[in-house]
Amino acid sequence: MIERRQTKTVYVKDIPIGGGHPIVIQTMTTTKTSDIAATVRQINTLATAGAKIVRLAIFDQDDAEAIKEIKQQVTVPLVADIHFSYQYALIVAENGIDKIRINPGNIGSDDRVKQVVDACKARNIPIRIGVNGGSLERNIKKKYGVTPRGMLESARYHVGLLEKFGFEDIVISLKSSHVDIAVEAYRLASKEFPYPLHLGITEAGTKFGGTIKSAIGLGILLYEGIGDTIRVSLSTDPVEEVKVAKELLSALGLYKKPRLISCPTCGRLQYDMFPLVDKVEKYLETKDYDITVAVMGCAVNGPGEASAADIGIAGGKDEGLIFVDGKIKRKVKAADMYEELIKEIEIKMNKQKES
Ligand code: SF4
Repeated sequence: MIERRQTKTVYVKDIPIGGGHPIVIQTMTTTKTSDIAATVRQINTLATAGAKIVRLAIFDQDDAEAIKEIKQQVTVPLVADIHFSYQYALIVAENGIDKIRINPGNIGSDDRVKQVVDACKARNIPIRIGVNGGSLERNIKKKYGVTPRGMLESARYHVGLLEKFGFEDIVISLKSSHVDIAVEAYRLASKEFPYPLHLGITEAGTKFGGTIKSAIGLGILLYEGIGDTIRVSLSTDPVEEVKVAKELLSALGLYKKPRLISCPTCGRLQYDMFPLVDKVEKYLETKDYDITVAVMGCAVNGPGEASAADIGIAGGKDEGLIFVDGKIKRKVKAADMYEELIKEIEIKMNKQKES
């Protein structure tokens, strides 16, 4: 059982981050934000896939202004990702953004920081400080190098600038593309700050390599109870980021999602199992029920695993055996295996819905 580290709770619209609340999955759009139609489409796709918060890059004034229209067309809370420009921060705050990612040390004078803080305070908009190993402040880098300690010092500096103006609606991230540096930086930060932590291994890489890297880095931290919201960064469609994040949390028992068990198959297999597993996985992808489904290759070891799941199927030559709650329910024809399995899954989910 993972014991979560207690932090302050920060609200992004109606989504709580920290304070022991469920870990929030977020991701980022890849569209040009000012292309409103495409951005809205992608936000909605990501929300359907399971993202509870979606971040958008604010690269220019058109992007900042587009937030007003985008906010009217989506319900999932939005975060504006801003580098350097306090003016964009003021525009998006005015336009209804739900959270801003900006490093106050990068926007200039105290007066500018105060303007952003005031705008956010007036509208209950939290700020995420995003420390990145690749862009540490020059003096910090000189003193500490790109190290966990250097990243902690950078976070201290930015947090101090917000606290100076009485702002404490803060989320912190300390991302690095090196798993070991990120893990240690987050460990240090979790001891130092009362604020929720946004976990991420930045520029993790491709769908395959990046998934492994993220699973290791985020997995270690989450297992230690560190982390309140996560973003998996992959060089691919952000829907994949959401799927990986869900799977990662689910593997640690931190997310309610159907679990799919399937065997690797071997020479005993007598039916085309992989397409069936793929179809079942696709079906379960958007469901948030606490249910274990097993798809097994044969009647040798299959029934054992299938019967330990809530719903299972052990396929054979021309037929399959359906198991429900550990007991054989019935035989079904090979051609009907998918439909029959889904029928049982739906009965189980409906029962959960009613209870
Ligand atoms: S369940 Fe059957 S087909 Fe699958 S790996 Fe085990 S023995 Fe092989």
